[in-house]
Amino acid sequence: MSPTSWLLHCSACDTPAALVRASLCTACGQPLFARYAPVARATALPVRWDMWRYAPFLPLLDGEAPVTLGEGLTPLIESPVLATAVGVRRLWIKDEAQNPTASFKARGMSAAVTRAKAQGVPGLVVPTAGNAGAALAAYGAAAELPVRVYAPRTTPRPILDTIEAMGADLIRIEGHIGDAGKLALAHAAETGFFAISTLREPYRVEGMKTMGYEMVEQLGWRVPDVLVYPTGGGEGTIGIWKALQEMAAGGWISSDRVQPQYVVAQAAGCAPIARAFAAGAERAEPWLDPVTYASGLRVPSPLGDRLLLKVLRETNGVAGTASEAAIRDWTFRLATATGIDAAPEGGCALSVLRDAVVEGRVATTAEVVVYNTGSGASYRA
Ligand SMILES: *Cc1c(COP(=O)(O)O)cnc(C)c1O
Repeated sequence: MSPTSWLLHCSACDTPAALVRASLCTACGQPLFARYAPVARATALPVRWDMWRYAPFLPLLDGEAPVTLGEGLTPLIESPVLATAVGVRRLWIKDEAQNPTASFKARGMSAAVTRAKAQGVPGLVVPTAGNAGAALAAYGAAAELPVRVYAPRTTPRPILDTIEAMGADLIRIEGHIGDAGKLALAHAAETGFFAISTLREPYRVEGMKTMGYEMVEQLGWRVPDVLVYPTGGGEGTIGIWKALQEMAAGGWISSDRVQPQYVVAQAAGCAPIARAFAAGAERAEPWLDPVTYASGLRVPSPLGDRLLLKVLRETNGVAGTASEAAIRDWTFRLATATGIDAAPEGGCALSVLRDAVVEGRVATTAEVVVYNTGSGASYRA
């Protein structure tokens, strides 16, 4: 491999790792992070209309063309109506439905498939609660690589249809994403296919990170007071946090306050992070029998637990939950107040924010960015 602009280190114990076929830290089993030399903001960003605009901070070799479908550069839409409804000063929705295959998973797959393809892997495999499978099916097609997807039978029908429409080999399983994960790893071991699961390889989170760069640029190089993310495996939340750390290291944002207050939103039927945070734990215990129709949040054993709990602790964060009824109610309110085709995960985020404001854990003077991570259309059977 030619020299790269990044190195890999363990996110927990800092042990360096080899770049090729990188997975978890060989010393402690925690996720790896890519590390870049700081780049000054004066460095012109490449003019391109996808997330690879942030290429100086992405794992791309000199002269290499990424596997892209135009992901990223999604709108940040201000909603005074929702700001009033939840009781904060200003509120924006970052609408991730406007990505290829209708979720932010496109960003992670663009980065991860770019690296996997460069390593010459024979194929790609992923366990998914839904959207990651649809995104990998699309990026695998773009990279001309075969894709296998393991998804729960209960995954919303439109998402399963997208996976098959992109030509991927879809295996519907009983059980949840944790069960799918075991099957995906077994398939990878058997065939040499590369497993692109959440935080198990280090490059998906690099693509997710671009949500943070974009948000700050769209706000005029400002960090909001509060950031609300509907959290399952944790890659979205951790990616944004990593982006802001990198921007601060390069002096792109003021070092007075680098990170917003993070609000991690989970479904009441699957809330391992909220439960662990309330207990003051450093790791989360697996959630037994996860149930929620917000399928992106049905992740009982997130590999990002240690990092998420650290982000919450370090930012005076809030981890809250929403009932299925509250998710439905706030998804409808999000859509009707803005015209954004909100996913239930986006509704969950708003509901948890509303409760946090009522309980006084988020200030009424706050400027808040809420992520609508997927599209309502993906859930209409
Ligand atoms: C995957 C997903 C989530 C959860 O994201 P993580 O990065 O796993 O925390 C939230 N919403 C939607 C629509 C998703 O597809």
